[in-house]
Amino acid sequence: MTFETLGLSPALLRTLAETGYTQPTDIQAQAIPLVLDGHDVLGGAQTGTGKTAAFALPLLQRLSKQTPANGPRKPRALVLVPTRELAVQVADSFKAYGRGLHLGVTTLFGGAGMQPQIDSLRRGTDIVVACPGRLLDPLEGGTAKLDAIEILVLDEADRMLDMGFLPAIKRVVNRVPKDRQTLLFSATFEDQIKALAMEFMRNPQQVQVS
Ligand code: AMP
Repeated sequence: MTFETLGLSPALLRTLAETGYTQPTDIQAQAIPLVLDGHDVLGGAQTGTGKTAAFALPLLQRLSKQTPANGPRKPRALVLVPTRELAVQVADSFKAYGRGLHLGVTTLFGGAGMQPQIDSLRRGTDIVVACPGRLLDPLEGGTAKLDAIEILVLDEADRMLDMGFLPAIKRVVNRVPKDRQTLLFSATFEDQIKALAMEFMRNPQQVQVS
């Protein structure tokens, strides 16, 4: 299996070669073609399986295909993550895999330095990586507009639920267009995760790695 056979663009293939990735991991091989096809995907994968690239690569490809209308850009992809550390890591992956694609990435997490995050939203961005609680203020105050979101990712959904983010997730998802593509990654699939998938996803394709 090679990245070429998964349907990724020449620009992304070049970046992957430069990064030194020679072949897709199991979760990437399964998830990338489904995401490129526009399916909702329920991914069973832990950290270390290459799950970040499994959603970041096809998402970057989809976003870079259409140029947004002129004027300040509104986020077209939203990635919800449980922790600040993961937000930084995921945003760094988007920046690394997306170099040369001219897509903006903004992170939103709690603690010091909120203002630069808000300024970045105001200037316009394409991809927002956020902890759910941190998004509520800018969202409900009108700085973060989610009405142009095309792809929603819930990363490490089981950890977000363990941390009590379910009410915040629901408030955020309520503001995202219903006709979006939704991707949910989780290490486990207990009933609460299944319920979340039923509520937020349309005919999800399930992929699983151990
Ligand atoms: P993740 O599970 O997304 O946290 O990724 C775990 C690690 O695997 C990260 O350090 C990635 O840079 C690396 N990685 C992801 N995909 C590949 C690949 N296809 N080949 C080699 N390393 C990879």
